[in-house]
Amino acid sequence: MVKLELSGPQWVTRFPGSASLKELSAPFRDYASAFVEALRSAGAVVTISATFRPIERAYLMHWAWLIAKAEKDPRKVPAMGGVNIQWDHQSEDGEYLHLPSVDAAKAMTRAYGIDGLGIAPALTSRHTAGRAVDMSIRWNGPLTIQSAEGNTVHILREPRTGMNLELHRVGEAYGVIKYNRGGDDKPHWSDTGA
Ligand SMILES: [Zn+2]
Repeated sequence: MVKLELSGPQWVTRFPGSASLKELSAPFRDYASAFVEALRSAGAVVTISATFRPIERAYLMHWAWLIAKAEKDPRKVPAMGGVNIQWDHQSEDGEYLHLPSVDAAKAMTRAYGIDGLGIAPALTSRHTAGRAVDMSIRWNGPLTIQSAEGNTVHILREPRTGMNLELHRVGEAYGVIKYNRGGDDKPHWSDTGA
């Protein structure tokens, strides 16, 4: 029988995700690199927080979020091969302890930096496929950026962040598509917008 280890923030350093564009799958790796380079050349500040995410990490983030934020019962979380985590904490008599179980999941969401997300991180996603990048983007004043077609594009409108609609069109031409399912995942761009 596999020995299980209780949930908690010590899991967060395991199955590490990457924040390097080099860890992405081709050809999205080249598209994202070109877009980020164009942004930086234009003077925008780009901070990449996530690119490739192993499926084990996605599993841990997904269920920690659902337990911490959506009252998912820790006793009903399905197991994943290779991730020997026990989500439900118990007393010495084997009695289920709700509060410690939820507290441990909350500590995980904070350590993963997903505490503020409006939706659970997906079990499989463009990140686990190596085809997504989470990045914060900001600039001051007008942004003059090179388009994928080699033209110069002036972005005058606000916001001066990754939520700018004109910037989304620029990204799209590079093959980097802003998350298109509502405003809940602000830093997320991918090959499909999913
Ligand atoms: Zn993302």
